[in-house]
Amino acid sequence: MSDILLRAFPALQRNQSLARYTAARLGGPADYLYIAKDPAYTDIKRLLREAWTHDLPVTVIGGGANILVADAGIRGLVIVNRAARIEPCGTRVQAAAGTSLIHLARFCHERALGGLEWAIAVPGTVGGAVVNNAGAHGSNIASNLLRARIVEPGNTTWLAANDLDYAYRHSLLKSRADRRFFVLEAEFALQRTDHETIGAKMAHNNAYRRRTQPPGASLGSIFKNPPDDFAGRLIEAAGLKGERIGGVQVSPRHANFFVNLGGAATAGDYWQLVLLVQERVKRASGVTLELEVQLLGDW
Ligand SMILES: Cc1cc2nc3c(=O)[nH]c(=O)nc-3n(C[C@H](O)[C@H](O)[C@H](O)COP(=O)(O)OP(=O)(O)OC[C@H]3O[C@@H](n4cnc5c(N)ncnc54)[C@H](O)[C@@H]3O)c2cc1C
Repeated sequence: MSDILLRAFPALQRNQSLARYTAARLGGPADYLYIAKDPAYTDIKRLLREAWTHDLPVTVIGGGANILVADAGIRGLVIVNRAARIEPCGTRVQAAAGTSLIHLARFCHERALGGLEWAIAVPGTVGGAVVNNAGAHGSNIASNLLRARIVEPGNTTWLAANDLDYAYRHSLLKSRADRRFFVLEAEFALQRTDHETIGAKMAHNNAYRRRTQPPGASLGSIFKNPPDDFAGRLIEAAGLKGERIGGVQVSPRHANFFVNLGGAATAGDYWQLVLLVQERVKRASGVTLELEVQLLGDW
């Protein structure tokens, strides 16, 4: 299989570290790595067909802002989706899944299209946001998504947002065990809104983040907020702000953010800190925190 793949796709890289493709800057190598840049996705469709036909495991990474990749890396093929394109049509906008969500929010602001003000500081791609139902400031991707185009073995189809079972940081796609799908693009419905009104909301959201969230390499919120509470509050109440394992620290600014301090930090440190926090919060408050970030690779 490897020979067929390498001959057919000379741009495939072997044994490349994935650390630079994740927001935590951690993680080991992919057996095969492909960086998708063509928003027509001709290459991706061909590559996926080849991999799926030969049962090669495929893992998709968007902005890497919500994944913790194992130090041992990921077996099989990893596709990093950087294929970006935005096409407006009236108050609707289509975006290729590799488009940065922040770029899409800025694009909508420029055209006085309201609805994505919450996304102005949320890292990652449109594809990752569609899978995760990313959200902030009381809104989320499901609020504006009309439909998403997905390729699966033998099938390319538009799925309506209503059929994606969206809930808090959850979608039908995120819970699919087979992982044999790739989001190609998404279509959003927006509202004509005064340019200044959108700008003011975005400035407010940006300022809030600068005030409350730490700079540096992290994965955003590690745990989901439990019903009627905040994971950060529970972690802080358990006395864990500033707690550190190896090169990874519970942020002293926002306890639900774990920051890679650099140097010799590993994904293993990150994971040990997750387990320690989960255990201490359970002991202190009785609450079992549920992971928001996703583990990928050989753990
Ligand atoms: C500093 C910081 C702040 C954050 N703040 C927020 C926040 O306010 N709200 C929030 O919701 N999240 C937040 N996050 C988390 C992250 O931004 C979101 O989860 C984001 O939607 C992840 O997108 P991504 O492209 O990086 O996805 P990735 O992390 O690369 O992938 C996430 C999942 O989506 C899958 N995936 C990605 N693209 C595709 C595709 N094209 N086809 C199929 N599957 C795909 C991956 O396989 C994986 O399962 C934050 C993260 C950071 C680092």
